Amino acid sequence: MSQDLPAYALCRVVGVEPLTPRMRRITLASDDLLGARPVAPDQQVKIFLARDGGVPEIPAAPEDGSGVAGWYVRYLAVPEERRPWMRSYTVRALDPDAGRMVVDFVLHGDGEPGGGHAGPASRWAARAAIGDVVGVLGPAVAGYRSPDGEPVRLLVGDETALPAIAAILEQLPPGTRAVAVVEVDGPAEEQELPGADVHWVHRGGGSLPDAVRAVELPEGPVFAWVAGEASAVRAVRRHLVGERGLDRRRVAFTGYWRRDLTQDDAPTEQDMADVAEQLPAPDGAASG
Ligand SMILES: Cc1cc2nc3c(=O)[nH]c(=O)nc-3n(C[C@H](O)[C@H](O)[C@H](O)COP(=O)(O)OP(=O)(O)OC[C@H]3O[C@@H](n4cnc5c(N)ncnc54)[C@H](O)[C@@H]3O)c2cc1C
Repeated sequence: MSQDLPAYALCRVVGVEPLTPRMRRITLASDDLLGARPVAPDQQVKIFLARDGGVPEIPAAPEDGSGVAGWYVRYLAVPEERRPWMRSYTVRALDPDAGRMVVDFVLHGDGEPGGGHAGPASRWAARAAIGDVVGVLGPAVAGYRSPDGEPVRLLVGDETALPAIAAILEQLPPGTRAVAVVEVDGPAEEQELPGADVHWVHRGGGSLPDAVRAVELPEGPVFAWVAGEASAVRAVRRHLVGERGLDRRRVAFTGYWRRDLTQDDAPTEQDMADVAEQLPAPDGAASG
């Protein structure tokens, strides 16, 4: 692969574990993950799923230096019936010595307790079994842009953000305590989050932006990290910058999914505006 493309690995499912009724932990293994370099606390991978349930094929990296953009053009050129689905997920844990990666999948739709529409990735995760094969590209940084390496002290998100929130908390400097506001379906979906004072929001019992409005922020400068459903993320960011007066460089935010749109659907104008607002990281800080 050309230098600016992260590595591609074909991975086998070696572990499947229910975490909560709506979240399934899947462990992936491949010799290609041996020595994989962690890149950020909220590192993401692209997961490729074959439409026929077999081994996904992804195009080789272009030799002409066109990098990620050139590779993506090739991916889109694969006829739709053969093109694997590509979805973004967080690396919950990476063990480069064992060549293993843990990913926590939210099961949405298809009769799951949260209702809504299913998608190929949630459907795959609900049925995944030992020996299944997926493609993995990455890891790459997701939204982490800490000015001057400042630790995150406010974490906001829904269950899709829980893997990143848990990983970020595990990497906080000793003695740092964060506040987390997390929306899940109900009490059965709550997870242990050591290192944070957690405010759980149960769907139907209030909204994520309202819960953030009600929360007391930690004292002193706050670097906030926000991810989850895109419109909720926007509302939370607007509140933190507009009403709480946080410097916008101190609010890292990423829409992880869009209501009624799949990850194959084109970006909306609002998505493009969000990308424009995501400022580059200061020199030396993690960026994505
Ligand atoms: C950087 C990044 C990291 C992410 N990390 C994780 C992770 O670790 N774990 C995880 O589970 N997800 C994670 N996500 C979110 C995940 O990529 C999306 O939820 C994705 O849409 C799932 O693909 P799908 O094939 O299941 O559904 P799609 O085919 O993309 O969508 C089908 C339908 O389902 C709806 N939908 C999608 N997600 C949800 C949801 N969570 N709840 C209810 N409805 C939904 C869509 O609006 C659409 O109507 C991450 C996203 C990003 C960008």
